Amino acid sequence: MPNDPFSPTHSWLRQELSRLDAQGLRRHVITIEDRRPGEISLAGRWLHDFTGNDYLGLTLHPECVRAARQALERSGCGSGGSRIVTGGIPPHAALEQQLEDFTASTCLVFPSGYQANLGSISSLCQREDTIFSDAQNHASIVDGCRLSGASIRVYPHGRWDILEEWLSKPDEGRRWIVTDTVFSMDGSLAPVTELARLSQAHGAPLLVDEAHAMGVLGPGGLGHCAGQGVTPSLLMGTFSKGLGSHGAFTASTDLLAHWLMNRARSFFYTTALPPAVLGASNQALTVSRSAEGDRLRKKVLGQAAKLRLALREAGLEASGDGTPIVSLVFDNPARGTEIQNRLNERGYLAWSFRPPTVPPRTSRLRISLSASHREDQVDGLGRALITVLHPAPRRNHD
Ligand code: PMP
Repeated sequence: MPNDPFSPTHSWLRQELSRLDAQGLRRHVITIEDRRPGEISLAGRWLHDFTGNDYLGLTLHPECVRAARQALERSGCGSGGSRIVTGGIPPHAALEQQLEDFTASTCLVFPSGYQANLGSISSLCQREDTIFSDAQNHASIVDGCRLSGASIRVYPHGRWDILEEWLSKPDEGRRWIVTDTVFSMDGSLAPVTELARLSQAHGAPLLVDEAHAMGVLGPGGLGHCAGQGVTPSLLMGTFSKGLGSHGAFTASTDLLAHWLMNRARSFFYTTALPPAVLGASNQALTVSRSAEGDRLRKKVLGQAAKLRLALREAGLEASGDGTPIVSLVFDNPARGTEIQNRLNERGYLAWSFRPPTVPPRTSRLRISLSASHREDQVDGLGRALITVLHPAPRRNHD
């Protein structure tokens, strides 16, 4: 087509994608063939799976699957609309009721964690405000901050002392502090006690993302803040990781929840979650709050600690204390991919994250533990990692 208006665009896209290829940064969507607890089938092989965020192993939990099926059969495949029209179906009410009982706050279920962060941050923070955001905050927080139009001040990861200095100088407009509580890439924990103190002292509401702490940390799996006795101004939790399902919620005062209902565009300009997902999330929450939840948390955190210790004893720097994440940093993107591939050859799957998810010129092998892993799988991964990261000295043949 001589005058195809898209052809200059296509050549630009091709060029940019080739550039990503050349830098080893191009991403591809993969499809797994099957999965069972702790394992997935990929490209015709069963692999020990250390990639997911199913920390408690609830994705395939029989009671969660049964609850999903019951909700599906009772209420159908989809919710049919937005929460503010007729999409607010009985399984929403049931889930929000349990959440409110659990958090002692007013809760709103969102279709995803990404949408919960995007909608809550962008609707609360105004153009004249300043948001203080941790350097390692998740992309959905970053996007929510950008969308708000507020000034964004990014403090170095975890450095509440620097934040304290910044807060001691006045800003125009309201001020907000926003942080993940468990940082997904390295498994580090936010200093929530100090952040809550700064929030109080400077009248800057504390907004927390407990995505990777939900189901995993704190009493009943309520999160890192609850574990530390901290009550944030707004808590965002997801069902999509430790609770093995999908979707998210906010927990806040009633007033703040009503603001979100009216102003968070990602809450009401989208179709509400379907019944099966709501049923599974509600049951997962019940499991998390039970003695079984305590047992699963103990198991996954114990296995992560054991793996970390084995790696450290072998001289490797593994991060993520107190969380189900164990991660190793490399000083270039290609090295992480190489280690990922060598683990894959040995039957273990863990992703190496590359820029822009991690800082430029680095990569990070992120190992995600689950209560559904068997002990021999975790021990085997530890041995495989030590082997591939410490190759035996070459034999001298001359
Ligand atoms: N916050 C954090 C810290 C996350 O890691 C993620 C997902 N990777 C999200 C929010 C988004 O949650 P969801 O996948 O439910 O959209």
